[in-house]
Amino acid sequence: MPGRSGSSLPRHLLLDQDPDLDADLPPTPSAACAGLPVGAVFATRYAQALPALLACGRCALRTECVTAVDPANSWFDGVSGGRLWRNGRPIADSPTVPAAPAAPAA
Ligand code: SF4
Repeated sequence: MPGRSGSSLPRHLLLDQDPDLDADLPPTPSAACAGLPVGAVFATRYAQALPALLACGRCALRTECVTAVDPANSWFDGVSGGRLWRNGRPIADSPTVPAAPAAPAA
């Protein structure tokens, strides 16, 4: 089962934790959950996950996050793509946070 570090983490989350990890790659948009306590992102209960779930609502990387985490195959516990997952399955009583509408062009 994947832990809190290693291949189950999306690349952008790894870069947020360690900017020197892959400095040669072009910059990517930041994960909206960057800077939140690890316990919020890797929560197993809705109350603890709420800050991360709210961040997902304004995150530009939702699709990439779920693709990278691959919850079902990684047996993921935590927040990814606006959902709370436990053992790779979305928690049934956890509402999915909708993506915020895109900002209007300036
Ligand atoms: S979708 Fe949610 S968990 Fe994934 S990077 Fe964005 S804010 Fe973090």
